[in-house]
Amino acid sequence: MVPKSKKTDAEWKEVLTDEQFRVMRKGGTEQPFSGEYNDNKEAGEYLCAGCSAPLFSSTDKFNSGTGWPSFTAPGSETSIATDADTTLYMERTEALCAKCDAHLGHIFPDGPEPTGMRYCINSASLKFVKNE
Ligand code: FE
Repeated sequence: MVPKSKKTDAEWKEVLTDEQFRVMRKGGTEQPFSGEYNDNKEAGEYLCAGCSAPLFSSTDKFNSGTGWPSFTAPGSETSIATDADTTLYMERTEALCAKCDAHLGHIFPDGPEPTGMRYCINSASLKFVKNE
């Protein structure tokens, strides 16, 4: 089990931007092609913007053409939690930070090899740290 990081909405509002709060704590979605990491091709790690848990690696990032940062796999088996999301009259798998329960995006089974998975993630939920 990953130790949980719990904060109230008021506490999250102190450390997140309005857009981050809307996406991460209220399950919102940023506008496609609007996020700062959609086109990022630098080598590094993507951390949770809320609790800094490592979530994704640039080695698993690919250009999905959707307008959101997309990854074929999580950085580790335990970093991402999932939940069934039936809002918007669709059945989707929600991706959450396993440590702070932040909404990250959704997971779709239409990604490229080797996993065939597409982790479609809001830039707002991520914090990129470039490799030294
Ligand atoms: Fe987190």
